[in-house]
Amino acid sequence: MIALVVVSHSRALASAAVELATQMVTGREGLHVGVAAGLDGTTLGTDAGAVAQALVRADEASAGAGVLVLLDLGSAVLSAEMALELVPPEVAGRVRLSPAPVVEGLVAAVVAAASGADLHTCAHEAEVGLAPKIAHLGCDPPRPAGGSVPALPSGRAAELSVVAEHGLHARPAARLVGVAAEVAPQTRVMVRNLTSGRGPVDALSLSGVATLDARQGHVLLVEAEGPRAAEVLGRLSELAASGFGDLPAALEPLEEATRLAPAVSEEPGIAGSGLDAAIGPVVRIEAPLDPDLRVAADPDTERRAVREAVKLAVAKLGELAGHARRHLGEGQAEVFEAHAVLLSDPQIHADVEERIAGGASGARAWSDAVDDAARRFADLPDPYQRERGQDVHSIGERVLRVLMGAEEPEVLGQGVLVVDELDPALAISLNASTVQGVITRRGGGTGHGVLIASSRGVPVLTGAGDAVDVPEGTIIAFDVRTGILEIDPDDERRATFETMLEGRRRERRHAIDNAHVAAATTDGLGVAVRANVSSLAVARLGAGLGAEGSGLVRTEAVFAQWRHAPSVEQQTEVYAAIADAYAPHPVTIRTWDVGGDKSLPFIPGRVEHNPFLGARGVRAFAADPALLLDQLEAICRVAVDRRVRVMFPMVTTADDVVAMRRLLERAAARAGLAEVAARLDVGIMVEVPAAALRIRELAADLDFVSIGSNDLAQYTLAAERGNTTLSPWSDPLEPAVLQLVRHVADHLPPGVVLGVCGAMAADPDVVGLLVGLGVHELSASAATVPMVKERLRTGSARGFRELADRALTCRDAAAVRELLHARIGRQAV
Ligand code: PEP
Ligand code: MG
Repeated sequence: MIALVVVSHSRALASAAVELATQMVTGREGLHVGVAAGLDGTTLGTDAGAVAQALVRADEASAGAGVLVLLDLGSAVLSAEMALELVPPEVAGRVRLSPAPVVEGLVAAVVAAASGADLHTCAHEAEVGLAPKIAHLGCDPPRPAGGSVPALPSGRAAELSVVAEHGLHARPAARLVGVAAEVAPQTRVMVRNLTSGRGPVDALSLSGVATLDARQGHVLLVEAEGPRAAEVLGRLSELAASGFGDLPAALEPLEEATRLAPAVSEEPGIAGSGLDAAIGPVVRIEAPLDPDLRVAADPDTERRAVREAVKLAVAKLGELAGHARRHLGEGQAEVFEAHAVLLSDPQIHADVEERIAGGASGARAWSDAVDDAARRFADLPDPYQRERGQDVHSIGERVLRVLMGAEEPEVLGQGVLVVDELDPALAISLNASTVQGVITRRGGGTGHGVLIASSRGVPVLTGAGDAVDVPEGTIIAFDVRTGILEIDPDDERRATFETMLEGRRRERRHAIDNAHVAAATTDGLGVAVRANVSSLAVARLGAGLGAEGSGLVRTEAVFAQWRHAPSVEQQTEVYAAIADAYAPHPVTIRTWDVGGDKSLPFIPGRVEHNPFLGARGVRAFAADPALLLDQLEAICRVAVDRRVRVMFPMVTTADDVVAMRRLLERAAARAGLAEVAARLDVGIMVEVPAAALRIRELAADLDFVSIGSNDLAQYTLAAERGNTTLSPWSDPLEPAVLQLVRHVADHLPPGVVLGVCGAMAADPDVVGLLVGLGVHELSASAATVPMVKERLRTGSARGFRELADRALTCRDAAAVRELLHARIGRQAV
């Protein structure tokens, strides 16, 4: 029979819990429930030595059947983990620490143990011990009061906010694990989600951290114990401030920026059709492997086999990361790096070890441990986090293949690939000239495999379910834009689909063929179309797609991964490379835009009640302009022999403009570049309604202004830009926003150029309207540049002006949208 141990800060609490639990069973013979709690009968605390002794006693009592440990919080967890290092390894191998709540978990585990259940089953029973109460009360697990848990006695705890859009999914979680790993094993880190009540988990366990279900807005409690506790907490706080390194993706997803892959790589088979639709015969990959085909040797041989397989898998993931980095950029490469971290997950390895010790083959043990880990994801309430289970399956299969001596999976034939889930490794390595599209049975659109395939221009329809369980060779057609899926369409339907595809192909080809032709309306009004840039890779991509310079270099995104502020020299080098990508066109370097939803590890921000209305953009440097001065100096240095412009974000008043000009002069003077600064084009972003309304005063001494429609809409409509529940109030097509754009156009001093660099400028349906409102240049996401240019060529300046005049009289955004679509529909006929 398995034995149990309760580890708690309070001996009274632990003893009472044991009493309560053991009352639930009638026959207690052979049931051992040990207690390691309190420093003595009355003093609260935990002691790793006492826990170790309790474990050894319980292990003896269980005669090798295993020991399940129920723990309360904080240092109880850390002490229990430390105790595992103090007991002989073979004993530690038979102990399992349970994340279950002490009282409910203990009751459930005692009942299961007394009935003779094994360690696995008892652990599971404990973990679901809360289920009856949740079901009875009909509610979610409770949130801790006030969202705060007392720190460890040593005070080494920190609360971290999760600010990035997708929360703590695999990549940011891998970064957290990476920081914790650097101080392990001497310093141990535990994490819990204060908002959802999940955890604590070992910060070295990627699957554990990812299953905390930490979403945007949640608060984590990180506790550390050991010599580098303070340091690791500081570094994790910095990391959290950068959205765990995920904020640039939220600003401008590389996936989106690289959707037109042909510009990224000319290598055959890399770029897909980019049509969001496909038709062809169903093809599949080889059947999955059966781990039971490998017979178990002795445990040591099996352990070695798993270790070797993991090592080879890590090496292969390194290769895939390199491939992704070359063709798709840093963001996609990190997917494979996160997988490599997952492969050293202690939770998975402990599980594998336990199974091998129990007689399983390495292949069976690995396969089952990975399935368990994936199930933990499947149970998460957030769909985005749930999809991270695909990553676990992916690494699971990779190691299993090595263990079974199998090759990488191959697509059998040419057509539409149907898979259960799209593994990122398959997504990056499939040949896009033979696979016209991919349909997944399970999973949604945010799996890493799906994002990678989409960024290569391979159309992917997700979550098709059993509908696609059809024989190989069956013709299948799908369109991601409309969600249409047709199985074995008749000849007429096939012809209609082919015609639609041909139309799309033509439009896209035309746009790409003409990507390098300047955009002008049918009556000859030229409009500069530039690209928004968040990295050098995106800059090169934009240039390849015909962008005439950059209307917005988001410098805070370019340097988002830097822990320390880049020096003037380092910045000069990066800005020069971006400028070179676009020469002879200009690039517009926006100064650090931090605050609100953006933060940089090296620019400390104050905690504000309402950060969107706080020290954002230029306001962040009012007290200490040192970092801004460095940046301005770098811009001046680049401007010596390259075409660059400088742009200031979040400007509100005429005094802001004056202050920024002075800083520019100061930075230039200290570098001996006053003359360069004097001829540098200077502009501001128009993001605050006050700046729009007073544009005549603000722009009196400027060369250009650029409307940041994302923020201008947010501030005009008082609807936070990232809050999807506010979408009925946050549409930038609201006539109030359009009216401000027209006001700016009508009141700009002569000669000042008017641009738009928010997302509106990347919507091909909207760009004609912007030109009609009086905008001279647009800066769009790189991928949309060809389509934006193409649409501008379809209308006349007069027509666009009339369209804008009508839009200004519309009742609301919906009416404006209808007006735009009616126009596009007319054109298509
Ligand atoms: C904007 O606000 O529209 C803009 C382009 O700036 P960002 O999205 O970087 O805040
Ligand atoms: Mg903005």
